[in-house]
Amino acid sequence: MRILSGIQPSGTLHLGNYFGMMRPAIELQAKGEAYYFIADYHSMTTLFDPAERRKNSLGVALDFLACGLDPKRSVFFRQSDVPEVTELAWILSTLTPMSLLEKCTSYKDKVAKGIPVNHGLFAYPVLMAADILIYDSNVVPVGQDQKQHVEVTRDIAVKFNEAYGETFVIPEPQIRGETAKVPGTDGEKMSKSYGNTIEIFGDEKVLRKKVMSIKMDSRLPAEPKPDADQNLAIQLLSVIDAGTGRQCEDQLRAGGLGYGDLKKKLFEVYWEHFAAARAKRADLAANLDYVNGVLQEGAGKAQALARTVLQRARRASGLE
Ligand code: ATP
Ligand code: MG
Repeated sequence: MRILSGIQPSGTLHLGNYFGMMRPAIELQAKGEAYYFIADYHSMTTLFDPAERRKNSLGVALDFLACGLDPKRSVFFRQSDVPEVTELAWILSTLTPMSLLEKCTSYKDKVAKGIPVNHGLFAYPVLMAADILIYDSNVVPVGQDQKQHVEVTRDIAVKFNEAYGETFVIPEPQIRGETAKVPGTDGEKMSKSYGNTIEIFGDEKVLRKKVMSIKMDSRLPAEPKPDADQNLAIQLLSVIDAGTGRQCEDQLRAGGLGYGDLKKKLFEVYWEHFAAARAKRADLAANLDYVNGVLQEGAGKAQALARTVLQRARRASGLE
């Protein structure tokens, strides 16, 4: 089984990225041949600062390795180190109906939020299809927001196979129910581009302040809260530690737990959860030669595979 997933260096990684994609991806390392990449081409659709992109790309590498990506088991690389993927994206785009992309809700959401959109953002699912198909991937662990894009990939692969003969493996998305959509500090999907994130790593003071400033309603601590499961702090707590989440939810429902104390608990649990990873990240940051070596080795392996699959597609479509 080949597993593939990517993450954009469009900002600093957050709890949504971790629980929605990184943790499942790390668990899957033991079950097959994993290819994980830093989606720097994709980040170009929304981020236009080169220094920021470089900084974030390194950040994603450190975060992923600190959280448990094992380069002995997984191939870890930068998307742009395998430029073959852009050629395949072109080939696939010629078989992609406009209507398929016009339906994509992630694009429509960004338009609705007033984020300036460009052709790259519109065509993003085609590059994503190329990312997946060029490694003959079977399984793609993603958050709920990416499910539709994996379905687009399947549609495109089927179209190619019908037009030019059996060429691509048809991939399956893998989505974890309970962490499929981690909410941000405003209650919407936590997303780097929505400014509603709680980062996995960062300054303790800043992060504590973020957690403590999550908005709550004005009900008094003693008041029972029958809608406790709708509380944002409870939802986040449950994602990080289901047991503590349930306990606090019961207390909140019964009355007697104040919002301030609840948020303090959330911060504590969250901070503790990443303590070991934080220490590992600091070690990695002091050893960048190692990190760059991992990415270089990963790029070599990924490129070798990508070239064979691309050649298959070139032959099938009459380019060779
Ligand atoms: P951007 O806002 O730039 O799109 P993002 O925060 O959505 O950034 P991506 O790099 O697009 O992050 O996504 C990386 C992975 O993390 C994907 O598999 C995506 O499904 C998952 N993911 C992102 N946000 C969440 C979330 N809030 N809950 C669960 N999974 C998420
Ligand atoms: Mg996203």
